[in-house]
Amino acid sequence: MEHPENDQQYTGLTVNSGVSQPPSVNPYLRHRRKPMPSAAELVEGILKGDVTHLSRAVTLVESTSPDHQAVAQEVIEKCLPHSGNSRRIGITGVPGAGKSTSIDVFGLHVLKRGGKLAVLAIDPSSERTKGSILGDKTRMEKLSVHPDTFIRPSPSAGSLGGVARKTRETIVLCEAAGYNNIFVETVGVGQSETAVHSMVDFFLLIQLAGTGDELQGIKRGIMEMADGIVINKADGDNINRAQLAQAQFRSALHLFPPTTSGWMPEVLCYSGYYEIGITEVWDMIDRYFDFVTSNGYFEHKRNQQARYWMYESINEQLKNHFYRDPDVEALLADRERLVLENRQSSFIAARDVLDFYFSRLKK
Ligand code: GDP
Repeated sequence: MEHPENDQQYTGLTVNSGVSQPPSVNPYLRHRRKPMPSAAELVEGILKGDVTHLSRAVTLVESTSPDHQAVAQEVIEKCLPHSGNSRRIGITGVPGAGKSTSIDVFGLHVLKRGGKLAVLAIDPSSERTKGSILGDKTRMEKLSVHPDTFIRPSPSAGSLGGVARKTRETIVLCEAAGYNNIFVETVGVGQSETAVHSMVDFFLLIQLAGTGDELQGIKRGIMEMADGIVINKADGDNINRAQLAQAQFRSALHLFPPTTSGWMPEVLCYSGYYEIGITEVWDMIDRYFDFVTSNGYFEHKRNQQARYWMYESINEQLKNHFYRDPDVEALLADRERLVLENRQSSFIAARDVLDFYFSRLKK
């Protein structure tokens, strides 16, 4: 019997055989996935300022698949003539310095003048944490809902060189889409500053006052790269300490060699949270741009950066070609073992592997 409840002993109850339930997932849905637009469609969308096309192109830039890379490179090539018309600003500071709070406020400040803003990030540590800590939309509450802002977290895969290249290429796409203000954020603790420095026009270092050692583990090299040092959280009873730190940074900067641009880096206090001194910080950045545009350094630096990225790109591709070769990989594993067991010197092992690689190239 199909339904035991229909037995004689149950009264007042009849169970119908019922109908089969429709599936909870629409079976036709899978046929409706949008195909990936072609390079030409992406370029057309980007040049119109369409955010969907821009995002998809950036995803291709970040992808490691050779097919995606091929389309991405074509898109970049076509966007290149439409790029360059922006102010690229690097922003760094140790975690907790107030980067996200400040970027939110700085961003709204520049947007008041019109134009559009892209916030990108370089965070190679995301390789370990499987997801970027920088560029997270929720950290910039006001900007993330602003219609003229494009926020993109750090590309997460690969070496610092790879992550930086992707950000550099994303800058090109954003500029072609009409973003005339580009912020590139990074954590001020390591190598990534050099990478950011090599793709921006102005490098802003956010510092804090009154945490003991005024240089706070910020490497001297990072201070030397800065075009402006701003001391955040100059509010409440922290104002005096911030001013003291300002004086200390100013005198420290005098000990540094003069910059190639001829610009003397400035040190200012502000409060991102209470929005104090924001205009002054931005006036300084305007002064910098006026200065380097009139003395020709702006053009010069961009040319130098283009050359740097050409070599970086060559280096990266050579390395990939070498390390991704399965035979090289096998030989490397073998030689690594010999070296670890002290049976072969590292130099001879390296030479053997390279000899093998080069001899194969000649064939
Ligand atoms: P990030 O890690 O550099 O991005 O720093 P956040 O922007 O997340 O800020 C770290 C903490 O400092 C947060 O709790 C902020 O509220 C606080 N903060 C940021 N800017 C200011 C400021 O100008 N004044 C004060 N008093 N606190 C701030």
